[in-house]
Amino acid sequence: MSLKQRLKAQIQAFGPMSLGQYMTACLHDPAEGYYASRPQLGAEGDFLTAPLVSQMFGELIGLWCIAVWESLGRPERLCLIEIGPGDATLMQDLLRALRLAPDLLAGLEIVMVEASSPLKAIQQDKLKSHPIQWVGQIGQIKTDSPVIVIANEVLDCLPARQFVRTEAGWSERLVGLGPDQDLTFGLSPRPVEGLFPPAPVGAVLELSPAQDALASDLASLITAQGGAGLLIDYGRSEPGFGDTVQALGGHKKFDPLQAPGEHDLTIHADFPSVLKAAQDGGVQTGLVEQGRFLRALGIDQRARALSQAQPDQAARLARQIERLTGDDQMGVLFKVAGLWSKGLPTPPGFDPDPEAAA
Ligand code: SAH
Repeated sequence: MSLKQRLKAQIQAFGPMSLGQYMTACLHDPAEGYYASRPQLGAEGDFLTAPLVSQMFGELIGLWCIAVWESLGRPERLCLIEIGPGDATLMQDLLRALRLAPDLLAGLEIVMVEASSPLKAIQQDKLKSHPIQWVGQIGQIKTDSPVIVIANEVLDCLPARQFVRTEAGWSERLVGLGPDQDLTFGLSPRPVEGLFPPAPVGAVLELSPAQDALASDLASLITAQGGAGLLIDYGRSEPGFGDTVQALGGHKKFDPLQAPGEHDLTIHADFPSVLKAAQDGGVQTGLVEQGRFLRALGIDQRARALSQAQPDQAARLARQIERLTGDDQMGVLFKVAGLWSKGLPTPPGFDPDPEAAA
């Protein structure tokens, strides 16, 4: 039976399911979930992420790691953790940049947190030359060292629930069966109790306890060990309403209910909620747009240096910068949340915006 048939049978037997349950099945069903069975990143695959746009992305994050390590007092051992490392491009580029700090590299432990077996196999193949430990969940990380954590485009694939404001109150949006017995979105007949913000009828509120839990777990780890982390993703910087669920396959959008497991299924990162969960876990936080973050880290200078070495690549590098930092590309919709342990100076990229203050 296909995943779609199994989900329909489950709904027939037990009733409609939450969007979060549906997302989890679509992404992680052991037989047919997208990440369990067929993740395809890259130009030829389903979606493109920043490290796949340009090597400069991972290299600049590597420089950010060196700066944090220095501000930690150059500890002899450092634990670098990447969550959801995809096809390992970011880690490869980051490690190349770390060669600038041989003392850091010499005492580096690397832990990858990966839920997808096919992607883990790709990562193991590409990163053979480095001793790396793989775990399935953050809770399994064991380290005595200060930590630096990187997660690019991971918050967006964590499950969320949706609630819709009706005349009678807020009702959960559920995946059920329509008159034609096909999957369809509907509303729970019973409004839910709880603290909801004022909103007009029809407003959709997305909540992702899983995004908050990730931020909270990372904050606890960073608070306990000292260190810092970056959560990079597309999402909102202010609380707001709207249905952001999207299914992507071959760089095209699909109906999220059409073919469970065949497409990547994502939602926007809810940064206000993520930052609050992190702060409650004891860390300091910052949030900047990706364009501003990469420019503060020196993407223009990096491109100039690369272009001087390979003048024929200058136009290609300029296109990559535009894609990563352009206001109408990834520069504004994508944001970088920084988490750092109390007492540590503000890491690069999170200084207050001088223009905003002016
Ligand atoms: N960071 C990479 C890949 C982003 S795709 C890049 O920027 O190119 C999302 C990644 O998160 C994949 O590696 C996916 O397998 C992983 N992932 C999805 N859900 C996860 C979970 N619950 N725990 C850990 N990793 C997860």
